[in-house]
Amino acid sequence: MRPPLASWQTRGTTSDVTPSLDSPLGPLETTVPDRHAAHLRQPRYGSPDFDDHQPIEPAESVFRHSGWKTKRRRIVEALQRTGASGRRILNFCDCGSDLWVKADGDDLALTCNRCHDRMCDPCQNERRTAIIEKIMLRLLDAGDRARFCTFTLKHQDAPLAVQIDRLYSSFKQLRQHPEMGKYFKAGVWFFEAKLDKAGRLWHPHLHVIQVGPDRMPQAALSVAWKQITGDSFIVHVTAITDHRQQVQYVTKYTTKPLSADVVRVPAKLDEFVTAIAGRRLFQCFGEWSKAHAADDATPRKLRAVGALCTIHSAACSGDIDSLVIMHQLHARWPRLRRSHPLPPELSANPPPDDPQPDIDAGGGSWGNPW
Ligand SMILES: [Zn+2]
Repeated sequence: MRPPLASWQTRGTTSDVTPSLDSPLGPLETTVPDRHAAHLRQPRYGSPDFDDHQPIEPAESVFRHSGWKTKRRRIVEALQRTGASGRRILNFCDCGSDLWVKADGDDLALTCNRCHDRMCDPCQNERRTAIIEKIMLRLLDAGDRARFCTFTLKHQDAPLAVQIDRLYSSFKQLRQHPEMGKYFKAGVWFFEAKLDKAGRLWHPHLHVIQVGPDRMPQAALSVAWKQITGDSFIVHVTAITDHRQQVQYVTKYTTKPLSADVVRVPAKLDEFVTAIAGRRLFQCFGEWSKAHAADDATPRKLRAVGALCTIHSAACSGDIDSLVIMHQLHARWPRLRRSHPLPPELSANPPPDDPQPDIDAGGGSWGNPW
């Protein structure tokens, strides 16, 4: 007999919950066991009745955040140093809580709370993954009219916020430029901030994937960029028609906004966190922005199966139905073999030998758990 699973109705929607807590925050919990290093526990104050969601469990943190635990810890410390609200930090730390198993017909799905914070890799990766799929479809349609361009600003000893304003405003002017504007009627841009080799000056970039008339005149584009910015003329343009190479370039151009070197320098990380507040870090423009808004998929209707922690604990006790579900989940999301393992005698596959790589300060992988 299967133990009762926690009622879906009593836990609310798991995917888009905004916590109502506004608690004063204490220091990060630093005594978590090593295997739970991805877990950032914040003290909560006041009655739990005012919580919109449960605090995240260590296993849920391991599942969602193991791939970037060091970077994540550095970011939450930066949020604390730069005076982010208690609500934002709690949301950030609880991202991935209320992990539920749901079903769409025979297909299993996992849902959880998401913080949607611009500094949260899994949340941003999900948004980027969705947009990358759309970009790839548009590039197939564009054939040889697609180009990959990078716009940079000359190194300056100026605050990052000022340089972002200048970069965004310069690209907007380029799109309205009398000769070059026609090349930027459809596309998407992604922002990236790097530091120079000395780790002192910012080096902001815009990576742009655009579709326009063929034969982009790179020299004229460079002249126009210099006219607009006053001092910067470096523009890289690459035209690729081979779809396999396009996939590689899209991955390269849709890189994360924050390079690894920034994450390791607390003062620069603090400046980045403050500078990007309220700003977009990627955006479709022109015809792609209209198409992007129009083809947003309607969300799948999912049937709740049960809270993962309940199914996992029932499976560990030998409940057959729960074991079947856990085996399906382990096959589909191998990370769960580490965050929610089964005893060896009940497990179809042992947990992976190697711990999940900590991407640390933003290495290459998207690191999405799903
Ligand atoms: Zn998040």
